[in-house]
Amino acid sequence: MTNMLYDTLLGIHAGRDTPFLHLPGGETLTHAGFVARAGQMAAALSAAGLEAGDRVAAQVEKSADALALYAGCVQAGLVFLPLNVAYTRDEVSYFIEDSGARMLVCDPGRSEELAPIAERHNAMIMTLDAAGGGSLPDRALELSPDFAPVARSADDLAALLYTSGTTGRSKGAMLSHGNLVSNAETLAELWQFSADDVLLHALPIFHTHGLFVATNTMLVAGGSMILLPKFDLDAVVAALPRATTMMGVPTFYTRLLSDPRLDQALTERMRLFISGSAPLLADTHERFAARTGHRILERYGMTETNMNTFNPYEGERRAGTVGMPLPGVEVKITDPESGDPVEDGAVGMIEVRGPNVFSGYWNMPEKTAEELRENGFFITGDLGRIDADGYVHIVGRGKDLIISGGYNVYPKEVELVLDAQKGVLESAVIGVPHPDFGEAVVGVLVPAQAQPADEQDEGEIDTDAILAECASSLARYKHPSRFVVVDALPRNAMGKVQKSLLRERFRDLFAGFGAMG
Ligand code: ATP
Ligand code: MG
Repeated sequence: MTNMLYDTLLGIHAGRDTPFLHLPGGETLTHAGFVARAGQMAAALSAAGLEAGDRVAAQVEKSADALALYAGCVQAGLVFLPLNVAYTRDEVSYFIEDSGARMLVCDPGRSEELAPIAERHNAMIMTLDAAGGGSLPDRALELSPDFAPVARSADDLAALLYTSGTTGRSKGAMLSHGNLVSNAETLAELWQFSADDVLLHALPIFHTHGLFVATNTMLVAGGSMILLPKFDLDAVVAALPRATTMMGVPTFYTRLLSDPRLDQALTERMRLFISGSAPLLADTHERFAARTGHRILERYGMTETNMNTFNPYEGERRAGTVGMPLPGVEVKITDPESGDPVEDGAVGMIEVRGPNVFSGYWNMPEKTAEELRENGFFITGDLGRIDADGYVHIVGRGKDLIISGGYNVYPKEVELVLDAQKGVLESAVIGVPHPDFGEAVVGVLVPAQAQPADEQDEGEIDTDAILAECASSLARYKHPSRFVVVDALPRNAMGKVQKSLLRERFRDLFAGFGAMG
């Protein structure tokens, strides 16, 4: 009897007493201990009456047990559905209803609060410590993992992972054992991960990045992870000298750069810094290289496909690009209207096909049919182009594309100009309803120096000078019609800028303007 993901990630480590998790309290959990713990979780979930294919929702803080719960679901043939710990009761309720989850696992202190929600949707509820049968790490090795893995093959679902909800309501992406194994094996090989690697893990584990790209890959390689509950600058700086690799979102890197302790000595043991989930500014890439000697490897992935492209481990890591397709993964750029391939080098919709691509959105057959073509290509919703050397450049999301006076404006192109201006820390360019142009281009600017928040105030930033710069580098229709200054850009847990919130906030900027006004 085989269980594809169990065999690839867990079974191979059942007898190994080498470290897998370095925990915040200084304790270490071995691979064997982790597999044993997963076995306990699998046994507890099965004993509760869950059967292969049932969904298990988990709203738990990041911990060794939370990862063991995921592994236990794999072993018991269950479909793991991690939920952001920040989700409110209403949101949890929505996800349980939408997924038809039969079990909700929560942290011990939250069962009273969440029990009525589980009950409302006929789901059971279990606390994480109860699922494991005691606290870690003392009990992990005591109980042997004699729970036989439930048979699962490539097409069986392993996880129902909801998208980040950056462009609308989160959608449940159905990911199979085959999807996850293909990526984990490929990445471990590409990044030359081995049992000697120590991954600094400060990402959330309710998202594809921290759960699959980081954890699955390290499990395949048999290395270990320094598990930090979140990105805390002091804790990360303290852990860096022990780590050989780190995966992060761009804000991790900008925060590290803001710390005077970041230098070559601190990162001496490091072999690879990786960034994904949101665009890494070329400026961040270059400054990080100058300070540490490391060129961050930027990659591109999404909930629906895990990982699509990466900058090479050996070879040129090109700042501002997301590199080339993974072996076995195809990327093509198409015309968003016709779906036909664009001319070489032109901007269009990024489509992806490969063993990593999900099988559809849970409960959303129409949406699935719209975005997943019959020929297997997934329409990512991201716009991009492929340069002459094969590197993929993302220019923004289709939903963020601005159509002003009939012209397409790619926000990223304008943001690159604005970001480079004196006094500007970062920017977001959005389209705002305009009575004449349909949409007008608005530049939302964050000043380099924090200053009193008055978003209508142009502050210290010299917008005339910025417009003069736009005039020399961008066609007129791309110039922002207005600038607004904000303290910070709204970002979600993965460091993604939430442009929909900005559009909402500045929706009425041009109300009363236009031909009649
Ligand atoms: P939703 O689909 O619910 O709107 P989301 O797309 O943000 O949310 P995720 O699946 O977490 O949910 O994120 C995938 C998206 O993140 C990609 O489609 C892309 O827009 C962006 N992304 C990921 N990596 C990169 C990168 N290296 N550079 C630029 N964008 C990236
Ligand atoms: Mg998305």
